Amino acid sequence: MSLLIAGTMAFDAIETPFGKTDKIVGGSATYAAWSASQFTHTIKQISIIGGDFPEEEIAALKAKGVQFDGVEQIQDEKSFFWSGRYHMDMNTRDTLITDLNVLEKFNPQLPDSYQDCEFLMLGNLMPSLQTQIIQQLKNRPKLIIMDTMNFWMDIAMDDLKKTIGMVDLLMVNDGEARQLSGEYSLVKAAQKIMDMGPKFLIIKKGEHGALLFHANHVFFAPALPLEEVFDPTGAGDTFAGGFIGHLARTKDISYNNMKTAIIIGSAMASFVVEKFGAQRLKEISKEDIAKRLNQFVDLVNFDIDIE
Ligand code: AMP
Repeated sequence: MSLLIAGTMAFDAIETPFGKTDKIVGGSATYAAWSASQFTHTIKQISIIGGDFPEEEIAALKAKGVQFDGVEQIQDEKSFFWSGRYHMDMNTRDTLITDLNVLEKFNPQLPDSYQDCEFLMLGNLMPSLQTQIIQQLKNRPKLIIMDTMNFWMDIAMDDLKKTIGMVDLLMVNDGEARQLSGEYSLVKAAQKIMDMGPKFLIIKKGEHGALLFHANHVFFAPALPLEEVFDPTGAGDTFAGGFIGHLARTKDISYNNMKTAIIIGSAMASFVVEKFGAQRLKEISKEDIAKRLNQFVDLVNFDIDIE
């Protein structure tokens, strides 16, 4: 039984008020796999890359147990490329360039070895491709989680709504929840989005944490106040990888276990922002993660006496 992660494996060029990178490895599926690999070792990746994607990155992920049978490589083409610039508050960013490159040709074909999928993470990807992946699975996974982005809302809203109707849990940020629902209040937005199909919804609010909605329940997970946020790129995908990695490890998809998973996702996201790219995710140990989780517990733990 395994965790399937679909999404982009890409190059990014990032500008923040504090620094700038040339092309570095990124992509929604790259971050999600690095993060989830801290919790589970049967990860099967679905993506497409060009001949320019570094072999060392593939080897490093394989060494963490990530399987590549579902990753297509087109040698004489370029990988997906994204470039973004963060504003001073680091919570908002502008996309400068999105070059789909190989993504335009992507026609995912799931290998037979991927049919044992119990947990499916549809990372940020063209919605029609996310649907195609769900449709290729002969047995419905225990849990299907989906991430998306304003980019797809702008150019493929109908396809996106169709995919949203097929998943159990959707993850979006606050701006995207508002765009998708047409509601400013996040509570109203959440109800409208859950009416589109997903039983669970996570709304990410950057440095202000994340909200988990289910029926008429709502749970809040803070983000750890960090002295320095170096590069927020991939925080959402890293959050998603930690969230589903925990659920896949424990095989428990209850709302209560999702509360733990959202804290674990937040802890993983708090690491990735400390350096450019996925660098921090490659360095951290189980002990680092345990220590960080304790900081989250301390952050929200208090006694109260109400007469
Ligand atoms: P996040 O910061 O978690 O929203 O994710 C950033 C990552 O998403 C970057 O590494 C990009 O390569 C990737 N990305 C950016 N735009 C898209 C898009 N339209 N579709 C899929 N992946 C994207």
